[in-house]
Amino acid sequence: MPQLSEEQIVQIKKFVETFPEEEREAKLEEVLSQFVTDDKKPQQQMQCPFCLMNEGKLKVQKVFEDKDFLAVLEINPANPGHVLVFPRTHVRDMNSLAENLPTFLLLTNSIASSLLSFNSGVNILFSMGSLAGQKFDHMVVHIIPRKEKDEVVFSWKSKPLQEKDLVVLREKIVAGLVGVSEKPFDVEEFKGRMLRSEGRSP
Ligand SMILES: [Zn+2]
Repeated sequence: MPQLSEEQIVQIKKFVETFPEEEREAKLEEVLSQFVTDDKKPQQQMQCPFCLMNEGKLKVQKVFEDKDFLAVLEINPANPGHVLVFPRTHVRDMNSLAENLPTFLLLTNSIASSLLSFNSGVNILFSMGSLAGQKFDHMVVHIIPRKEKDEVVFSWKSKPLQEKDLVVLREKIVAGLVGVSEKPFDVEEFKGRMLRSEGRSP
């Protein structure tokens, strides 16, 4: 049994809990076995494909990179040109990006606009929570160019609500709003960084 720090135990617990209950025991065994051979890296960084891409351990075609973010071509795309944008650090959601969130959104928009210049349409897809389709504990935005009859489907059946239900929901959402900041975003500074990233080695 490897000796683990409190921090490592917390990390392992969080990681294992991302799997369905019936898979957790096997996952835990796997994690612990890897801590015996390499106890310097948290398990999540060895398993997570986005961390592997960040570490250069998976071959990728980079569309953009800076010190905080990577954008790469999806190798199993919904359509050719499908791009994945993600932070270099292993974080679950946009809340964790803090002051880098505007940069992330601007970068996402920039890539989507580029794709839109030579495609008929673009979808930006971001999933939070496993039920919504988030497969890894590392946030990622999918930018999917659209073509005619491409068989990429986003659909739902409408569920009409009465006004009283809408009011209750509105109040619940408003009460939960956090992190809304009025801090101005420096577009010129971001553009400068976009340009400086050109010509960097892959
Ligand atoms: Zn990761």
